[in-house]
Amino acid sequence: MDAVLEKKLMDAVWAANSLFARGKTSGSSANLSFMHEGKIYITASGTCFGTLTPDDFAIVSLEGECLNGKKASKELPLHRYYYESKPSVEAVIHTHGPYAVLWSCRKFEKSTDIIPNYTPYLKMKVGKIGLIPYGKPGSPELFSAFRENLDKGDAYILKNHGAIVGGKNIMEAFFGIEELEESAKLACMTDPSPVYELINSSI
Ligand SMILES: [Zn+2]
Repeated sequence: MDAVLEKKLMDAVWAANSLFARGKTSGSSANLSFMHEGKIYITASGTCFGTLTPDDFAIVSLEGECLNGKKASKELPLHRYYYESKPSVEAVIHTHGPYAVLWSCRKFEKSTDIIPNYTPYLKMKVGKIGLIPYGKPGSPELFSAFRENLDKGDAYILKNHGAIVGGKNIMEAFFGIEELEESAKLACMTDPSPVYELINSSI
């Protein structure tokens, strides 16, 4: 294996293990990916950030074709569309961080810049956070809502679901998702009268 790929896999595994160990995501819900030589390396379906190893990655083409026989996370289209719309992004992390999820369940009056700027760090490290309308996880509705709203921000909150952040490499995406979670925590703790919304009970 070439040294560059080895380093990317090491960073990806470290970031995943670290997020899980500190309760920033749980179970098998999170996924991450990075680009290498024109291919997407994405956590395989059913993997857990807590036990992730370098062998847990599916390799897929930009068109979504599987190249190493491993089944990609079902949220692969979110990663593909992120790369497609933002050429500078080479790594993407999606988690269900507790405060990002809580903030995602709130009622919003706008769809861009949806986390208040109590500190400058989210803007400095990530930029504006856009809101993606609710779609069932892994569904065509979620994927098309994501694709249609990529112009709403630099990274995103998926309504009643979680967060997704891109960066020029794994560590930048990791710092970004950390900052989003911390900023969502501040926003939740300072919101004087939060109004939350449930998903449609038939979903
Ligand atoms: Zn998810």
